[in-house]
Formats: sequence, structure tokens, C-alpha cells
Amino acid sequence: MSAPRMLPRLDSVNRSFWTGGADNELRLHYCEDCQNFTHPPRPVCRHCLSENVGPKAVAGTGVVDTFTVNYQKWHPKAEVPYVIARIAIDGAPGVYLTSNVVGCEVDAVDIGDKVQVTFEQQDDVFLPLFEKVS
Ligand SMILES: [Zn+2]
Repeated sequence: MSAPRMLPRLDSVNRSFWTGGADNELRLHYCEDCQNFTHPPRPVCRHCLSENVGPKAVAGTGVVDTFTVNYQKWHPKAEVPYVIARIAIDGAPGVYLTSNVVGCEVDAVDIGDKVQVTFEQQDDVFLPLFEKVS
């Protein structure tokens, strides 16, 4: 388990994203009118301004677009080093999640690595983290 984090305040718009992990689903806001994803979730499509948006589960796989390794112990319970990565989400063009790649040594992570979402529950929030696909 990673260090305790500042957790998001859940509301009617972002709840599907932050709790999808309860069903092991990565849910992104999707526009039924223009078929584009909008992230972070919001009540209006950022592409066409339609309000016909709602959560849609994606595969939960992606590719490491870029990353860095943090060595600074920002929190007393933090375990360093750890990887902070920008993940390009499969099936959702233009959507990137900034998250952690876990479950491997930090030296094992590289740009272009295929990853799969895994969820870590803290309170009522399911944090989407990523593991390398072997
Ligand atoms: Zn739209």
C-alpha cells in the first residue's frame, strides 16, 4: 500500500471514476454525441459541449507515455523510490492518467511499457494505479 494521500471529494460527476475500482472497472466520462472521452470527468463534453456525457468502462490497459522516479520522502509513511507516470489509456484517445506504476522495481519501467490498471482502496476511493503487463 502506498502512503495515505489527499483523497478527492466525491460528487455526482466524479464518483464513477473514483469508485469504479469496486467493480474492477476503469470508468471514464464519455460523450454519446461525439464519441469522445473527457477527463477529468465533468458534466459537459470538452469537445462538443454536449451534456450527454456519462461514465463508460474502458479496458484498463495503457502505455507509459512518460515517467519520472521520485526519491524524495514527501510523507513519513511514503515508501521511496516510486514511479510517477503519465499513462496513455487504450481505447480513449487523448486521455492520459497521471498515476504510479507499482509492482516492479523503478528501474524496470520505461516509456512504451504496456500497463494494466490495478486499484488501491483508501476510504471510499479506489485509486487507479498501474502494473506492467508481463
Ligand atoms: Zn461531445
